[in-house]
Amino acid sequence: MRAVIVSACLLGEACKWSGGSNRDERVIALCEGRPVIAVCPEVAGGLPVPRLPGEIRGGIVINREGESVDRAFREGAAASWARCEGREIACAVLKARSPSCGSGQIYDGTFSGTLTAGDGIFAALVKEHGIPVFTEEETEQARRLLEETDG
Ligand code: SF4
Repeated sequence: MRAVIVSACLLGEACKWSGGSNRDERVIALCEGRPVIAVCPEVAGGLPVPRLPGEIRGGIVINREGESVDRAFREGAAASWARCEGREIACAVLKARSPSCGSGQIYDGTFSGTLTAGDGIFAALVKEHGIPVFTEEETEQARRLLEETDG
């Protein structure tokens, strides 16, 4: 059975920027009985919990104070991917709208709650390797893919 890459905060790990988690029962149910690679790219990049929120502006990740945290985000994404490389992976289920984990839609870098098209740094890396990425809001699509993959 192939593994699923999952944002650790969706599994209940208290690693989100504000402290606390984004525990999601839909994702936990999806992962039951399946190999899971839980990642938090921001913590893997050396960022603390809690931390200032980040957003991507002009291709660079900045925090709410306007400081670049791009290097930590990219190093954390690379370190998280290194834990996945070489594994048989079916898909990823990553936290929606995050500057690391978001897929298809992220905040626009103005810290005003405005969304724009795009991927977080880690989600983009996972997609570059040909792995389908779903958000926690697309758990049913992920389930269908897993059923097909499991044969
Ligand atoms: S980097 Fe991803 S896994 Fe870590 S707290 Fe943010 S959304 Fe969750």
